[in-house]
Amino acid sequence: MSELLTVDGTQAALTTRYAGALMNTFGAPKRVLVRGEGAYLWDADGNKYLDLLGGLAVNCLGHAHPFVVSAVTSQLATLGHVSNFFASAPQIALAEKLLGLFDAPEGVTGKVFFTNSGTEANEAAFKITRRTGRTKIVSTIGAFHGRSMGALAVTWKPAYREAFAPLPGDVEFVPYGDAEALAAAVDDQTAAVVLEPIQGENGVVVPPDSYLQAARRITSEHGALLWIDEIQTGIGRTGSWFAFEKDGITPDLVTVAKGLGAGIPIGACIGLGAAADLLQPGNHGTTFGGNPVAAIAGLAVLTVIERDGLLDQVNAIGNHLTDAVTALDHPLIEGVRGRGLLLAIQLTQPVSDQVAALALEAGFIVNNPIADALRLAPPYILGKADADSFVAALPGLLDKVEI
Ligand code: PLP
Repeated sequence: MSELLTVDGTQAALTTRYAGALMNTFGAPKRVLVRGEGAYLWDADGNKYLDLLGGLAVNCLGHAHPFVVSAVTSQLATLGHVSNFFASAPQIALAEKLLGLFDAPEGVTGKVFFTNSGTEANEAAFKITRRTGRTKIVSTIGAFHGRSMGALAVTWKPAYREAFAPLPGDVEFVPYGDAEALAAAVDDQTAAVVLEPIQGENGVVVPPDSYLQAARRITSEHGALLWIDEIQTGIGRTGSWFAFEKDGITPDLVTVAKGLGAGIPIGACIGLGAAADLLQPGNHGTTFGGNPVAAIAGLAVLTVIERDGLLDQVNAIGNHLTDAVTALDHPLIEGVRGRGLLLAIQLTQPVSDQVAALALEAGFIVNNPIADALRLAPPYILGKADADSFVAALPGLLDKVEI
């Protein structure tokens, strides 16, 4: 890199500079990271980490994947950005490719609106719901859909919402996984029901098997849209392109982001059936959404997942990790839940912050979304030996926890 762009320094020096220059929205950074390769990361002091979090379910192909690097680099050198008065071939090809991933019934076609993030994909979906002429949205307790005002309005956590009231209104929250509560809340005034197929930020909460089918039935009965937020679960994370696939339903709206760009910011709101045409010229827009570089990254990611059979790999490594952690039979481990490579290790005590910190010290990046569970969302390319190195270290880490 050019000497004009020298951005290095020690961990301590960079952490101090961070505190002076960045808004304090995330607290102090746990480490300053300088390089990634495959499933590994290195910090500014040269320490190496196994990345079992994948940039929070983003780096699905690991770090510096050669196919993505080459696609993005050559796109940037060819055509980096165009305004929305013009189209680009990568944008069109990615939209087509995404639509091809849906197993929609005969005659149901779809359309895509590209964004730069998950919250913006949900923002687009929120606006689409308003175009039904109805305003009521039913969301769920524990839901996380993003931090912009519309997405926040359907996000549950009071600590995230309260300081920003009033949010866009007419949102009702019902217990997650409870089809009867959903049926009682949805009526002929309901514009949409928004659901994560697995609640990720709430600690990888998996609903009962028939829940999404019930949600499809209930919304259809009342002419409401079913909006499935696949931002964390989609693009192969749970071992299929979308987590809702196993339920055999067709939603009206599907939002994705995170894994789609594998590190290049891109999201999408996909409308299927009539919902695909609710936004019309002038209703919505974005300067960067679907920019050629981000779109080619998305195309590269989908191509590599297909080419390398990574959906099977996600299932195989996910099952292996689940079985191996369960077999540890440690008194602090209650069990493992989740699907594919979106897993939570449920602890018997509220000590996930301690375990995550001890793991980091030992060279493993995991996270603690709730007090008594650890979340794993590693790259799909995680090898069995890498996974085993974490499983082998885990009992020793748990033994160090102070209760
Ligand atoms: N929806 C879900 C299910 C998420 O997990 C997230 C992020 O964690 C979002 C929406 C928001 O995405 P972003 O952080 O890209 O805005």
